[in-house]
Amino acid sequence: MRFYFLLVIVFTITLPSASQSKKTNAYQYTVDLTKVVNDRVYVELKPPAVTSSEITFYMPKIVPGTYAIADYGRYVEDITAVDKKGNKLPVEKVEANTWKIKDAKKLAKISYWVNDSWDTEVAGPDIFWPAGTNIEEGKNFVINTSGFFGYIEGQKETPFQFNVVRSKDLYGSTGLIATETGAPPSSIKLEKTPENQNKVVDIYKTSDYDELVDSPLMYSKPDTAIIKVANTEVLIGSYSPNNKVTAKEIAASIREVLLAQTEYLGGKLPVDKYAFIFYFTDRPIMSYGALEHSYSSMYYMPEMTIDQMNQQLRDFAAHEFFHIVTPLTVHSEEIDNFDFNDPKMSKHLWMYEGVTEYFAGNVQVQYGLISPEEYIGVLQEKMMTADQFIDDVPFTEISKQTLDKYHDQYYNVYQKGALIGLCLDIKLRQLSAGKYGLRNLMLDLSAKYGKNKAFDDEELFDVITAMTYPEIGEFFNKYVKGSEPLPLKETFAAVGIEYVEEEKFEDYSLGIGNENIGVTEIDGQAKLQIAHAERMNDMAKALEFQEGDVLIKINQDSLPELGPMFGMFIQSHIAKLPTLDTLSYTVLRTGDDGNQKLVELKAPVKKIEMVRKHSLSPMEDITEAQYALRESWLRAPVATDQEQKPKEDK
Ligand SMILES: [Zn+2]
Repeated sequence: MRFYFLLVIVFTITLPSASQSKKTNAYQYTVDLTKVVNDRVYVELKPPAVTSSEITFYMPKIVPGTYAIADYGRYVEDITAVDKKGNKLPVEKVEANTWKIKDAKKLAKISYWVNDSWDTEVAGPDIFWPAGTNIEEGKNFVINTSGFFGYIEGQKETPFQFNVVRSKDLYGSTGLIATETGAPPSSIKLEKTPENQNKVVDIYKTSDYDELVDSPLMYSKPDTAIIKVANTEVLIGSYSPNNKVTAKEIAASIREVLLAQTEYLGGKLPVDKYAFIFYFTDRPIMSYGALEHSYSSMYYMPEMTIDQMNQQLRDFAAHEFFHIVTPLTVHSEEIDNFDFNDPKMSKHLWMYEGVTEYFAGNVQVQYGLISPEEYIGVLQEKMMTADQFIDDVPFTEISKQTLDKYHDQYYNVYQKGALIGLCLDIKLRQLSAGKYGLRNLMLDLSAKYGKNKAFDDEELFDVITAMTYPEIGEFFNKYVKGSEPLPLKETFAAVGIEYVEEEKFEDYSLGIGNENIGVTEIDGQAKLQIAHAERMNDMAKALEFQEGDVLIKINQDSLPELGPMFGMFIQSHIAKLPTLDTLSYTVLRTGDDGNQKLVELKAPVKKIEMVRKHSLSPMEDITEAQYALRESWLRAPVATDQEQKPKEDK
């Protein structure tokens, strides 16, 4: 929704803290969730002391972890700056995220309205959902702080306080930790007026803008669970509009993943408090995902029951939680000193996203949460998905230019990036006779650097090589800094697994697969379509698919929404093929006249010659060394092994 009526709201709430802290040089923000006007929320800022006559006020262009331009300034409307007496000061909008305020020495207050990114259509890039903002009056507010609060140029390091005015029946899930004013959220009493009866103000403080942006919140009717994992208190906050899933169920599901991750990280976690914040949507979706923060992660996922989403939920949670290793603990200067409005990218997405994704799978097989066969399937899927991206440009280059030139290659960080992690892990284990893997390397890097000490982007490969083996330097040179294809055959052979890049075989086929389908959007819903007619197999040819055909039904069964359930749907139809005489599809086809119509396609079911890519199978005769290496890769280290004892956290 989008409205432009201008309304003025007078704050009737007195905030004692605001007057008390007049002397402190901090940003004082107030956002009132009890007053939603035209799907917008009012934000007020008492700025820190300003010494120049003109200042620049920024909303972020980008936030860490998304690797994409967001331009949050697009959702801010009616910025007003006033002096102590309420006289307006000149404000000039410079570009989407930048405003200049003149006569700034007199500046006493900045105010504006914030629209939410989730249901406001504005020109420009789509904001990644878990980094976006949601305003659903009385029900749910997703406060990614980057969408609500800005900063003044040169004063990014100044402390922030923000007050959230809410109705009593809403609860704020966040990873923010206690402030000196009390337990989080510390609440203050409001003036006793009839209007304020059901309102509470939550006060949060952060040391600077980076910490502010690192701290999302979700306000909704309370559905929370708390679990204790090693030394860490873990909060699960959930919003499921149709109550299909609860925080308790989520907690039960991800608890064992977190326990395994704790062991994987040496028995202790580097945070005291952590929050998983879940928003489940019942609307049609094109994409969903999650975003990591130092003390929390934010999830935007389709609303399903816990059984329907279980594995995906665990995969997502494991991935986001492992980000506390990298980039949150191990990161380069580009990330440490993050420039929200003129971002510099690092070369090391292979590590931030790739190693994180690799760990998310490896921990699950090591601790028996998935079987080795399932894990091999996960790796195969990554190899097949990676085939859809370019493989002749160094991964460091793709990383460095991920905002522009190689933006369309970003998704490969979860595929090839994870496979780099795999090859590196096995190489390290091979060189150390199974004693030292990628897990150990990341723990050592965490100890060497840590949250507050960045590495030099140019030097990381040399540092790692010095910490490990010269062969690891060669590995980086060839496969990460260089553009040679990953040594998959050699890597899998080291653990006694036969890798065949491509082989022909005969089997039944649905006529659709990674090679010929793509995703398109119809009425806001993601649908599968035939994207590459030139890559159709004999079954697809027999069905007479045409490029652009949107798949509606298979054998009279409507295709479900793309999401975690989709794979099972396809699998069940593949399994049925041998029992059928005919395979049929209903497709939506656009004719030469531009009109769309439903078309029925049919072909007799028979085995066809197909190409299987990236097949993996256990070798028949393997050496003891191969066996030992496979064990060290797939099985959690035994605690009695001296080399593998949990390390003390630094
Ligand atoms: Zn990630």
